[in-house]
Amino acid sequence: MTFRDDLELASAWVASYVSRVGDLPVQARVQPGDVRAKLPAAPPEHGEPFEAMLRDLDEVILPGITHWNHPRFFAWFANTGSEPGILAELLVAALNVNAMTWLASPAGTELEVTVVDWLRQLLGLPDGWHGHIEDTASTATIAALAAARVQRPGGVVYASREANFSVEKAARLVGLEYRKVDIDDAYRMRTDFPLADATAVVATVGTTGTTSVDPVAELARRCEEAGVWLHVDAAYAGSAAVCPELQWCLDGCERADSLVMNPHKWLFTPMDCSVLWTRKPELLHEAFALVPEYLAATQDAVDLKDFGPALGRRFRALKLWFVLRWYGAEGLRELIREHVRLAQLFASWVDADPDWEVVAPHPFSTVCFRHKAADNHALAAAASATGEVFVASTTLRGVAAIRLAIGNSRTTEDDVRRAWEVLRACA
Ligand code: PLP
Repeated sequence: MTFRDDLELASAWVASYVSRVGDLPVQARVQPGDVRAKLPAAPPEHGEPFEAMLRDLDEVILPGITHWNHPRFFAWFANTGSEPGILAELLVAALNVNAMTWLASPAGTELEVTVVDWLRQLLGLPDGWHGHIEDTASTATIAALAAARVQRPGGVVYASREANFSVEKAARLVGLEYRKVDIDDAYRMRTDFPLADATAVVATVGTTGTTSVDPVAELARRCEEAGVWLHVDAAYAGSAAVCPELQWCLDGCERADSLVMNPHKWLFTPMDCSVLWTRKPELLHEAFALVPEYLAATQDAVDLKDFGPALGRRFRALKLWFVLRWYGAEGLRELIREHVRLAQLFASWVDADPDWEVVAPHPFSTVCFRHKAADNHALAAAASATGEVFVASTTLRGVAAIRLAIGNSRTTEDDVRRAWEVLRACA
């Protein structure tokens, strides 16, 4: 077998998987240790053919995969390993780029700054911001807080009780105290907290629990007055802003110091790809730019290693480029709109059933709801155990609720209807 033969096997496997993933149980039906027990305890002494690996992928690995690419994956924030993303990942491995500096990969660097600028334009963010790609929003927020700490060392990071826990982790990592701010009736961060001791405020556009949108404009006004860094976590909902009618969700963000959004959440890009923009790149640079003699800077070029924690940098820009070109702005808007429509439709079914209720506003593609009489954690687990759907549960103001998050490009109205049928049957 030649490499070309193996490539054909791999591409046939991928094409078959993508077309049949909707027939597999969404959530892996394994117990802890099951996969490990099927794997040899020691590495092979002799090289093996690719066919053997592919066979074990089917027999050992696939049963232990929770299928994020399944159209009825509705847990956490559903996402998509799209066709252009899959193709790009293959080419990325072939090119094996490390875009740590411009010299290390001129095209990798220049494509990255170009595609993040395309994305900035699509979201309606201000011209002139520096943007680059990090692996995850967790890392991007670490980078943002490190820059905030350069501006004002030693203070407090304030974020809402509903902020993702990655924000607290980032504050801890950069050695800043973290304080949770109360929320209003719509799960939004209150704005009447003291800022005198603050290094940074982190506002969320699309919180993990309910997708609430913090009052960014008011927070921006207060942060400007107090000279405090405002970072916006739009990891999930930032994608909505590709639709002009949803761009309200980024109102005020033009005055933020930094903003992160994840194409690997709701913008059809396979794990991992998170974009961080800032209007103060010089502070990111001050936080991260160490130039060892063996990596001397190139005149008139940007070295992206100087803007974040990692030195080695994957060629994530290629998949974002492919995704943006494959769908075009028009195609992205169509998918986002459809997901929002499906979520609103689902919420209308819940509203119409007296045994169920919607428990939070649902401006995007995620609905939080509950059965009024059931144990909703158990209900979400039972629905997921059918293998037909995968939904997660959460606790909102002490009350258990189920979350249905739509984010896979292959999800149809039939899939959402099936989720509702399964949930009602389980209840
Ligand atoms: N911010 C929000 C609002 C999230 O929901 C999440 C994860 O779901 C994160 C940040 C962390 O994202 P990542 O996994 O890219 O670090």
